[in-house]
Amino acid sequence: MRLDADVIVVGAGFTGLAAARALVDRGVSVIVLEARAEVGGRVRSFMTSDGVRRDAGGQFLCDDMPEVMALVRAARIETVETRWRGAAKTVSTTASRRVPQHENTLFARMSSADPADPALSGLSIADWLDAQEATDEAKRQFLSMVHGLWCLPAEVIPFWYLVDSDRRNTAEISELQYFLKDSAAALADSMADDLGPSLSLATPVSSIRREADHVVVTTDDREVTARHVLVAVPPVRAREIVQHPPLPAPLAHALGGWRSGAVIKILLRYPRRTWPPAVSSGLSWDDVSGLYAFDVSQDETHAGFVVFIGGPLALDWRARGEAFIVQTVRERMAAVLGPQAPEPLELILHDWTDDRWSGGGYSDVIVDPEAHDAEALLQAGVGRVTFASSELSPSFPTYIEGAIVAGRLAAARLADRLVADGTAHNDAMALPR
Ligand SMILES: Cc1cc2nc3c(=O)[nH]c(=O)nc-3n(C[C@H](O)[C@H](O)[C@H](O)COP(=O)(O)OP(=O)(O)OC[C@H]3O[C@@H](n4cnc5c(N)ncnc54)[C@H](O)[C@@H]3O)c2cc1C
Repeated sequence: MRLDADVIVVGAGFTGLAAARALVDRGVSVIVLEARAEVGGRVRSFMTSDGVRRDAGGQFLCDDMPEVMALVRAARIETVETRWRGAAKTVSTTASRRVPQHENTLFARMSSADPADPALSGLSIADWLDAQEATDEAKRQFLSMVHGLWCLPAEVIPFWYLVDSDRRNTAEISELQYFLKDSAAALADSMADDLGPSLSLATPVSSIRREADHVVVTTDDREVTARHVLVAVPPVRAREIVQHPPLPAPLAHALGGWRSGAVIKILLRYPRRTWPPAVSSGLSWDDVSGLYAFDVSQDETHAGFVVFIGGPLALDWRARGEAFIVQTVRERMAAVLGPQAPEPLELILHDWTDDRWSGGGYSDVIVDPEAHDAEALLQAGVGRVTFASSELSPSFPTYIEGAIVAGRLAAARLADRLVADGTAHNDAMALPR
């Protein structure tokens, strides 16, 4: 039977793009099917009125992330160094003493915990925090980090999952070291360049049928066939794709154990930078949990902040409406930046909470406390169907770097199988019309 390609990659986020490129490099033919009209997934861009391309989603990276930095250098994309100096300044609304994060021993206690420790099994982050000897301020700061980064309430996230994910983030320098002058989406675009007609945009996949020696993938208007399919979408979106025959129970269970969070990202663009350096190293607020702001000025005249609202706070504020969020963020930033700061020229909000194709947070999160093997089960897949996404990466899960690593590892496993079967071929592939 003549198949359309060796491998169909579903999703053109960084996982799918990295996988597709790695497969092509190994002589494997691919077709990439992407639901949106653009590549990049949780990395998206928009233009501000000064004609600059900015990040709506994933943005920051650092020298400790080797794969993404190598791609940035190869694509000759200019980086901008941030003014982050190791810690966000807490904006106080009370008289209590602020604890610098490096003095907050809860972070070190979390890092030294063993995710396989039976004593931790069944504990949520909130349970673990309750049991810790620490000041209220230290616990508040820890909780704010959980809400800001994991974008879900601490009550629903197993503590072992937090520890396990944190261990795989091995950056010694801040992950907020750089952003790309032309947006992270420019890097995704450059990765898609080589794919040519193998990439089909605005092509959501609705179902996958597994046959003995091939797979049939169904989109809105056609069926595409290949030896294998790599589902390079986050777990919560992956489980929406109908599988024929149904997935084996353990795998279906593994997919069911994840939840998407809530995050809103807002850009405030200013005519010039007038604020002191201390403010540029990031801000958090002590009266709310999961609210952060970072200086993303490119230079003195392309000045700006991004504000992140994560977890329960994002849900609470979006329930009050966009006008409330805009007004609140505007007032809080004005209070911090001081009377000499000009009014923002633009304030642009991206609410990822109900994002149709990628879910609501930086990443999907395991919420089933028993789902210790969920990632391994997804990576193994079933038959000719395997799964990959940033969430499943052995290094930097939930980051762009993790997506690249996860995509390449999945591609290497698939290419090995195809070579072993003697079935790989290297024709340029175009989607059948
Ligand atoms: C607001 C925000 C800020 C972030 N900040 C950072 C940061 O500063 N630094 C960092 O490293 N990371 C950051 N991240 C995380 C980072 O963006 C992600 O970890 C990474 O982009 C995930 O890549 P992925 O390919 O695994 O998934 P995705 O990017 O979600 O890609 C999956 C792709 O699959 C497509 N898709 C889904 N379902 C289907 C279907 N049925 N058929 C066809 N296609 C489908 C989607 O449209 C999408 O393009 C941030 C994320 C967000 C949302």
